[in-house]
Amino acid sequence: VVSLKGVIKKYGSVVAVNGVDLEVFESQTVAIIGPSGSGKSTVIRTINGLESHDGGEIVVNGVTLDGSKSSIRDVRNDVGMVFQQFNLFPYMSALDNITLAPRRRQGVSRLDAEAHGMELLEKVGLKGFESRYPSELSGGQQQRVAIARGLATKPKVMLFDEPTSALDPEVVQDVLGVMKDLAHDGVTMIVVTHELTFAAQVANSIVFMDAGVVVEQGDGDSLLRNPQHKRTIRFLSSLN
Ligand code: ATP
Ligand code: MG
Repeated sequence: VVSLKGVIKKYGSVVAVNGVDLEVFESQTVAIIGPSGSGKSTVIRTINGLESHDGGEIVVNGVTLDGSKSSIRDVRNDVGMVFQQFNLFPYMSALDNITLAPRRRQGVSRLDAEAHGMELLEKVGLKGFESRYPSELSGGQQQRVAIARGLATKPKVMLFDEPTSALDPEVVQDVLGVMKDLAHDGVTMIVVTHELTFAAQVANSIVFMDAGVVVEQGDGDSLLRNPQHKRTIRFLSSLN
């Protein structure tokens, strides 16, 4: 569903991503871990065209991101994104946040969008919260609305950039639980996370990035159990 080949992204003289290859297949969950500044967010942001790339190739669901507006639009239609800071629209109810993109971008009727939105709210454990505004929800609840919003356009892949890093510890598991359910439902996901237990339990593959490159990638939790590279070992031991 997602293929990156030799992707490079520079900010001026800073090379944030320096030749990343990544393949994510349908129904797979890939977790990306690595130190601060290693390029994890940049990789995620290039995949839905939030950042253009300076080299290499990105293909999402058969569409090559070539910098054209139409390719960015097509890719965004296939990608749902969840950020660290929920980024909900503050003056819209939970349900309106969820139905906005299907109605505006995909021409779905209000009735259909709201029916689907209510299903998604139930899926993320927020039945009955549809009229609440973001300010009336806890961080964990806001993030679950953000996940429902990401799913509302029926994307081919969901991108998560440290979705639990801004949350109070008590609600982290609520959000991870929803993500676990999605993985079991066969949603294709790329998740930047520091939650190694979650990655070990849910990811089909874990990628370790450092200094803009993929240092190592392993099936299942093998990268955590049996890291091969010095830099991976050093990073993992720094977390304990
Ligand atoms: P963190 O774990 O702290 O979120 P990260 O792995 O997500 O880090 P990125 O945000 O992708 O790292 O940043 C990679 C590099 O690119 C860093 O050196 C960062 O300073 C630089 N960078 C990121 N965004 C920009 C920007 N908009 N302008 C200039 N430099 C940037
Ligand atoms: Mg980041």
